[in-house]
Amino acid sequence: AVEAKDLTKSYGPQKVLDGLDLTVRVGEVVALLGPSGSGKSTLLRCINHLENWDAGTLRVGGRRLGFDENGKRLSPRAIANERASVGVGMVFQQFNLFAHLSAKENVAGPLRWVHGMTRIDADRRATELLDRVGLSHRADALPRHLSGGQQQRVAIARALAPNPSVLLLDEPTSALDPELVNEVLEVIRRLAIDDGLTMIISTHQIRFADEVADRVAFLSGGAIIEEGPAHEVLTNPRNPLTARFLSVME
Ligand code: ATP
Ligand code: MG
Repeated sequence: AVEAKDLTKSYGPQKVLDGLDLTVRVGEVVALLGPSGSGKSTLLRCINHLENWDAGTLRVGGRRLGFDENGKRLSPRAIANERASVGVGMVFQQFNLFAHLSAKENVAGPLRWVHGMTRIDADRRATELLDRVGLSHRADALPRHLSGGQQQRVAIARALAPNPSVLLLDEPTSALDPELVNEVLEVIRRLAIDDGLTMIISTHQIRFADEVADRVAFLSGGAIIEEGPAHEVLTNPRNPLTARFLSVME
């Protein structure tokens, strides 16, 4: 579903992605682990083409991102169209909801503006998605009247609404108070286990990664230094950096 090859990106003199290779198959859940600054968010933002990269290729569903069928680089406007059609959804650490819109409008609005749905269809889809994340009863609430866990569940509903083929989640529970973490993890767990959604999740929650991820990829310095079946990597890491990281996480 997602294939990154030799992906490279620098900010000034600093290489943030350094020849990174990652393949995620359809239906697979991959957890991205790694220390702060290792490039997890940058990788996810590239996969959603919110960032440009300097070299290497990214493919989603077989389609090469950033270039048209004649091999010409896409304009910023064409990149926005690409994002709307390529089927990647994203959930951010800080929720990024529209503050002045209700929960339902946060989900329905983009379906109308970006995906050209009618109001009736968008509202029906939003209602269905809010129900799926357990928030039917809060459909009319503004984000500031929702708890952090509820806001993040709205953000998940919004990301799922266009029926993405891949969902990216960037530390989806890091901004939450501890007592709100579980309701969000539960929603993600259901998407992974019951719905078989293809997901890439950056997280610092080792136990959660062990539970929901098929594979774990460990980033350091903008490259994947170890990857494999989640339980195997998490319980028996082969790279000393991975081992040290895991030992301070527990
Ligand atoms: P964390 O666990 O803290 O979220 P991360 O693995 O997500 O870390 P990134 O946010 O991808 O790491 O950042 C990788 C590196 O790129 C860091 O050194 C960061 O300072 C740098 N960086 C990220 N965004 C920018 C930017 N817009 N301009 C300059 N440097 C940036
Ligand atoms: Mg990050």
